[in-house]
Amino acid sequence: MKVTRTCGECGVPLGIARNLDWNANGTITQKGDPRHRLIFFESGNLDRLWNRLSEMLEVTTDHVWEVVIESKSRATRAFLHRTLPWGVSFLARFVGYRSMIRTIESQGLVMGYGKITVGGQYPRRGRPQRVTVYIEDPYSLPFFCGDFKGAAEVLEKRWASITWQALDSRRHQVDVTMREERLEDESFVLKEEMAGKPGDMVFERCAVCGTPLNMKNFAWDLEAGVILDDRSGRRLAFFGTSGMLAVFDELVHELGDRVIDAIIEAERENALASLSVEEARSGYEGLRYLAAIRGLGLVTSLELGEDRMSMRMSNPSIPGYIVGLALAIFELATGKRGRHTWSLEPDGDLVVDIIE
Ligand SMILES: [Zn+2]
Repeated sequence: MKVTRTCGECGVPLGIARNLDWNANGTITQKGDPRHRLIFFESGNLDRLWNRLSEMLEVTTDHVWEVVIESKSRATRAFLHRTLPWGVSFLARFVGYRSMIRTIESQGLVMGYGKITVGGQYPRRGRPQRVTVYIEDPYSLPFFCGDFKGAAEVLEKRWASITWQALDSRRHQVDVTMREERLEDESFVLKEEMAGKPGDMVFERCAVCGTPLNMKNFAWDLEAGVILDDRSGRRLAFFGTSGMLAVFDELVHELGDRVIDAIIEAERENALASLSVEEARSGYEGLRYLAAIRGLGLVTSLELGEDRMSMRMSNPSIPGYIVGLALAIFELATGKRGRHTWSLEPDGDLVVDIIE
């Protein structure tokens, strides 16, 4: 199957239609691997998020990037290790880097990651010590670096180092260098839980490929690896939630719970900049749909009045993100800045309360 072929009816690439499930419980998951959960989200928010976190937490951007790359590569190792059951060393020897990078390249085009091309490997034959790729218009440069590092580590079962440099305003060269130390088995493990609660979300679906029909409101540029929302002009990408959660867990581990407040604040700002007042005022059905089509989780109750809002969500993808989003919705809908409290209930639901 050529993943970049598109559905003749709705225009969604077959690489998306055949590999992802939009579930009734508000999640998007990889077919055949329900533990691999994704969200479809404004990707311009990502690099802005890393920058704001470094400002608010008073650590350097370089340090935040380091944490992002390490955590993302760990999530990618776990995912690839799990999905290549016949043994990755077999793959590495017989399929090789070019083929692996071609897979990453076409995945990147359909998932909205930008245009990835192979630079070369050294030495040209045998086990590589160094592999170079170029990426144009990356969805997030540190996320891409983490993905590439993790993929190389799975293939070689050794640790890798990564460097990057800008070639011009859009293109970057990324080099991965294999180190001597071998990876231990636990380097492939990541705590990942399946979203546990069933749901009742119903999508109207494309009669030909089965993806939710509203996905046709997004335009795929399959030359550039860019997905745009037709109406807002915003760029989106599909990205794994476990990579995101691994980044946040690592920052909390290092800097404490103030990281969660910083994430909520950064996402509030992001959502204020990218959501419209109409979206914020679209009510229970509208917001429930908006959350589910993006795989954020399933809104099961929502009350939004003049001076307060309360929301409950099953299977929340990234709780801090969603609290920030809820704050922005309240602010856009009422014109007032809100104060929030939130909790994760014993059944995993997220409850957010906002008052003026
Ligand atoms: Zn279709």
